[in-house]
Amino acid sequence: MIVAGNWKMFKTSKELKEFFRLSKEFKVPTNVRCIVAPSPTLLTLANQLSEGTSIEVFAQNCHWEEQGAFTGETSAAQILDCGSKGTLIGHSERRQYFAESNETCFKRLQAARKADLEVIFCVGEQLKDREQGKTEAVLEEQLKDIVKEFRSDSKVTLAYEPVWAIGTGVTATVEQVRDTHNWIRSYLEKNDCAWKILYGGSVKPNNFKELASLPEVFGGLVGGASLEAASFQALLDCLTDL
Ligand code: PEP
Repeated sequence: MIVAGNWKMFKTSKELKEFFRLSKEFKVPTNVRCIVAPSPTLLTLANQLSEGTSIEVFAQNCHWEEQGAFTGETSAAQILDCGSKGTLIGHSERRQYFAESNETCFKRLQAARKADLEVIFCVGEQLKDREQGKTEAVLEEQLKDIVKEFRSDSKVTLAYEPVWAIGTGVTATVEQVRDTHNWIRSYLEKNDCAWKILYGGSVKPNNFKELASLPEVFGGLVGGASLEAASFQALLDCLTDL
């Protein structure tokens, strides 16, 4: 299983160092991968500090061009150069605040996989989509192109993150997570695709065990509750014996 921390635009180098110092004591359950995704400014340092620990360091996004005039963006080669072997793509905050579309997310995924970066690809519906009964249609739109091209690519993991549950403290109910993960699983199966699926959206140590116990949930993509080492450890503890 995977616990992936999306650190968004949090942490200075001092805070990063403190996290990695404390992470030396992490007790990681067998077969669990710990991933953190810090800001680009911290990627190199995080990779250096992660050496000899059980933590992998991913980027938060990856541009589709190899290089060029794209101010504020990071290429796959630059991510590799910082020492990371993976990246998030399609996070809802990118889609919501930076106008990323299904098309640009797809291009980013293509570039990342071309460079052999592992990808956690995020999908999820907005509250209005769910209220209008459009959750599945939205997910299908987000998935259809990437499934066609990457169906047999084991270096792509999906993260289902209902937008209304991200950073809001509102977690989807266990039934909502189960039903949507089941729908995604059958959609993937229909397309001969066996990606693993993470859940994300206000995951906390007090709800993670129940969510991660669902057979379709392969772990979590976690924002707020992944920032502090103690809370990260508490998330890992939820996966003991699962
Ligand atoms: C996220 O950033 O992907 C996320 C799920 O955030 P939070 O856990 O804070 O809702």
